[in-house]
Amino acid sequence: MPLLDTKRRDHYRLLAVSDKVEPRIYGPNLRLAAPNVDFIVSCGDLPYYYLDYIVSVLDRPLYYVHGNHDRPEHRASGQVAYEPTGGVNLHHGVRLFGGLLMAGLEGSHRYNRNDSYQYTQGGMWSLVLRMCPALIRNQLLYGRGLDILVTHSPPFGIHDATDQPHIGFRAFNFLIRQFKPRYVFHGHQHIYSQLETTRTQYEATAIVNVYPFRILDLDFS
Ligand SMILES: [Zn+2]
Repeated sequence: MPLLDTKRRDHYRLLAVSDKVEPRIYGPNLRLAAPNVDFIVSCGDLPYYYLDYIVSVLDRPLYYVHGNHDRPEHRASGQVAYEPTGGVNLHHGVRLFGGLLMAGLEGSHRYNRNDSYQYTQGGMWSLVLRMCPALIRNQLLYGRGLDILVTHSPPFGIHDATDQPHIGFRAFNFLIRQFKPRYVFHGHQHIYSQLETTRTQYEATAIVNVYPFRILDLDFS
């Protein structure tokens, strides 16, 4: 269920989730915890039943990328879920939803032989460079390349860490500098202290670690 408007509004309210099933969200108070949201973003590493629950209660569109821990989910019915129901997988796409130009890039830095949702720096560069023609086309058509980038991992040197799984992607920094999305939402880096930085202004872009969830009022005025 994509957002219907085609013209970008000045304000949107977003529920962003990542990495951890949060009782305040996965429970009867979801509508109170996330009032009047226009859409939902998932940055990955979440069970699909959790995302299905959020979508069914709030009845708003979901845009998501996969995290490195995402796997097929075996349901009690015997069915296997490979994706959340009815969401839009943003990975490696550049698209217009509800007046917003959105793109996504899944996964983490590669750290073992399991290559699902894991990428080398070179692999991620290749994905990002192949997105550039669509972003340049947006600049020509709309006067801007991108409004929102949704990723699982952070950019290099921003909210990331030095161990293999948590090194950020350098290609993201290039994409942000070059195409200046207003917002980047990511997860992957768990937060254990309120002293940790979860929002960083990087040139024209607000980079936000949404772990485990955030209600965000986006401003495009
Ligand atoms: Zn992760």
